[in-house]
Parts: sequence; C-alpha cells; structure tokens
Amino acid sequence: MSFEDEVLKIIKESTKKSGGIVQSELWKILGIDSREGSKLVARLMRKGLLTRETVMYKGKKTYILRYADSTKIPLSISVSLNPVVEIPCFTCRQISRCSIGGYYDPTRCTLLTKYLISYSKPVIR
Ligand code: SF4
Repeated sequence: MSFEDEVLKIIKESTKKSGGIVQSELWKILGIDSREGSKLVARLMRKGLLTRETVMYKGKKTYILRYADSTKIPLSISVSLNPVVEIPCFTCRQISRCSIGGYYDPTRCTLLTKYLISYSKPVIR
C-alpha cells in the first residue's frame, strides 16, 4: 500500500465515522509537517479524491478533509438545442418590430402558433 493509499484510507474511515478529519489531526497521525501535508492534500484534491472545507477547530480556522468518492461515474449531459433553434422568432426578420398589440404580434403570429402546436402534447386526464 502506497503512502497516498494509507492517507486515503485514514480519511475515508474518518469520513464514514465522523464526517471527515481535521487536517492538523491527520498530520499528527501521519507524523508529517503542515508543509508536507498541504502538498499531499493538494495532490489528492487535484485527483478528485478529497474535498476540503474551512472549519473552526479549537478556536482556530483550519480545514476538514473528506473522502470524495472517485468511483462516481463522470457526468455526461446531452442537450438538444433543436427545439430552441426551430423557434421561428430566432430567424424572423420582424423580431425588432414584433410586440404584443403591434402589427407583428406574437399572440396572433401564425408561424409561432404553428411551432407551438407542433410541440404541444395532448393532455390525458
Ligand atoms: S412572433 Fe412571429 S412575427 Fe413575432 S418575431 Fe416571432 S415569428 Fe416573428
């Protein structure tokens, strides 16, 4: 087991037991100084294995470290802009003159009405 793995094991167990570990306590357990510990934490945070939050501990501002589940599946969201792009107003030459009550009025526009009807779904009650 590498040193990093040992550190992660401690943090993981602390996260399960008590919601994390104060970094100064971790330094004590590991027998390292804060400079060395800060580098280690930064490295683990870059890898997405830790989160760090500011807390007050024994009257001093410090950080609590928590294990971040790196086994989370990367999030991939696919958004289709097709329905938005198809809104007739985006390509309408009258958009600057269009307003409610005006000559070009969205409440009476056949292009917009056709578009809205094409995306409306029947309501089943
Ligand atoms: S509501 Fe009709 S007239 Fe007005 S901007 Fe949209 S498409 Fe053009």
